[in-house]
Amino acid sequence: MVTNGGGVWLSGDGEMVSVILAQSVITARHGGFMVTIKWLMKEIDGLCLRFDMGGFRFSKGFLERVGVVKGSVLGDGRLTSAWYDVWSNIGRITEFVTIRSIFQAGLKNMDSVHDIIDNGVWKWPQSWYIDFPILQQLQVPPLSNSKDVILWKDIDGGVKEFTVSLAWNTLRPRATKVPWYRVVWFEHCIPRHAFLLWLLMGENLKTQDKLKDWERNASLSNSFVCALCKSQIDSHDHLFYNCVFSSQLCLMVSTLLEWPSWNNSWRDIRDSLVPYTSRRIVRVVVTKLAYAAMTYFIWQERNNRFFKGKSRTVNQVFEVIYSTVRMKILSLKFKDSSHLRVMKDTWKIP
Ligand SMILES: [Zn+2]
Repeated sequence: MVTNGGGVWLSGDGEMVSVILAQSVITARHGGFMVTIKWLMKEIDGLCLRFDMGGFRFSKGFLERVGVVKGSVLGDGRLTSAWYDVWSNIGRITEFVTIRSIFQAGLKNMDSVHDIIDNGVWKWPQSWYIDFPILQQLQVPPLSNSKDVILWKDIDGGVKEFTVSLAWNTLRPRATKVPWYRVVWFEHCIPRHAFLLWLLMGENLKTQDKLKDWERNASLSNSFVCALCKSQIDSHDHLFYNCVFSSQLCLMVSTLLEWPSWNNSWRDIRDSLVPYTSRRIVRVVVTKLAYAAMTYFIWQERNNRFFKGKSRTVNQVFEVIYSTVRMKILSLKFKDSSHLRVMKDTWKIP
């Protein structure tokens, strides 16, 4: 469904995951796919997986922030999910008709409103009116030749017709009042690192402590420990950076940066950076880059061990962080200063 998302994400600074998400929604609409909330969530999850970020935990707050598809105004009924979208005054049909009944009636999960109407009559069986009496209130809508219109909840909670700019405005991370915003998002950030850091700040990573009971049961019990140290289940605080593996890495990175107040807690590091974030000085920019890279590669290492059975040592992960940040620094220009000369030395910049 997503055609060119990765390219956009990996190119140019300032492009955020939301651009891709907005694009994929548009691609889906133009391609004739139906956009449902469930689909949108799967899409974001897929984006995270593609970048070795593992799954994503969706809180109600997150969905409210992201802005969701609110419903459809029917045209020809072809882009509107019969079961999952809201297109009539009785609400979403799957709220009272089970998926099992849909299959038993010979209908399909992906049916559009157009698909379930035949010559002006609903295709579902007469028995549904007894099993689900609310359906008696549902008249067959007159379908036209025009396209369905998606309604989208905008940032202020209003419901409007879906447009590219509205989606972008709803989805893009914006300058909120949180004091650490600029620790994460800044002109030279590496977008995929920043996005992961943003998830960490909101404690939205799918760590083991957040899995539901059935997910725990479904996972292998012997793999249900931190993949990095194998001593306890992982959580945001454990992975960033109470874990032996990540605290060693954190010490190596903070020593390299000569940034003193890193006490093995992602909150401490974030807070130590906040007072400097409005300044575009080399030391602050490089430290923010390294902090985001460290977070990103710890999460990647954790997921590589879980899902791919591949592991690297602390030194190897450190090398990856070092070379990634170094590559980024090479693309930047700073005013000459004593800090710049120290930084060039540290990062072996010619
Ligand atoms: Zn650990």
